[in-house]
Amino acid sequence: MVSGNVELLDEFYEKLNNCDQPVLLLDYDGTLAPFTVDRFQAVPSPGVREVLDEIGSDGRTRIVFISGRNASEVVQLAGLRKPIEVWGCHGREHLSTDGDVEIIGLTDTMKSGLKKGELCARDVVPSDRVETKTGCVAVHWRGMSGETVQGIEGDLRAIWQPIADSGDLAIKTFDGGLELMAPGRTKGDVVEQILRELEGNDHAVAFLGDDLTDEDGFRALGDDGLAIIVRNDDRESAASVRLRQPEGLLEFLHKWQELASREED
Ligand SMILES: [Mg+2]
Repeated sequence: MVSGNVELLDEFYEKLNNCDQPVLLLDYDGTLAPFTVDRFQAVPSPGVREVLDEIGSDGRTRIVFISGRNASEVVQLAGLRKPIEVWGCHGREHLSTDGDVEIIGLTDTMKSGLKKGELCARDVVPSDRVETKTGCVAVHWRGMSGETVQGIEGDLRAIWQPIADSGDLAIKTFDGGLELMAPGRTKGDVVEQILRELEGNDHAVAFLGDDLTDEDGFRALGDDGLAIIVRNDDRESAASVRLRQPEGLLEFLHKWQELASREED
């Protein structure tokens, strides 16, 4: 099911069919994979992995995952046949298809603040609720009651605020938790960088996301590509097209495969 600007989507399909370089930018959690209480069980919706493998099979489409997770987790959970390019930790970490990992702009002050924040978080919630990533400590409360979440969030904010202040860090909410993070990198920065790399190329680029952190990416894309929100509610978004998970998403990806793929010589 598609809603939002259907004409814009048709225009995009036309461009995708004729361009030299199709570029598919994908958030992972919530967009391709439904949320699960155990975040290591979040696998793509049925059919998604298969169609992405088909899209990737002829090497024409550049597929880039842009996630809040560590890049290595996305690789593992997505389970695609070919090596994938991943911007992990909201653009703090880049994994190329040949396996090179690059970390972008983390100071020693930030690193020691994050370590402190991680230790304190483990005092407040069970350890399996604390996720440490490059440039970020995330506490997950999916599956907890609203009242418990409120209490924990209040405690964590009080403990983290002085650490954030002295460690050049920021506290941010995300869908299902709270994180202490090194600010200054967003999914928008990643999208901007990819657009710069594409300058001069005849490209068609789409970014699919669901979370508030994806909105930076949608805005950065502007008129240079198609921003698509994959959500089953009607939360306001800077994206111009809305797809339902999984049926709208699958329809879009199959259409991509049909239009962007070419027979290998
Ligand atoms: Mg997401």
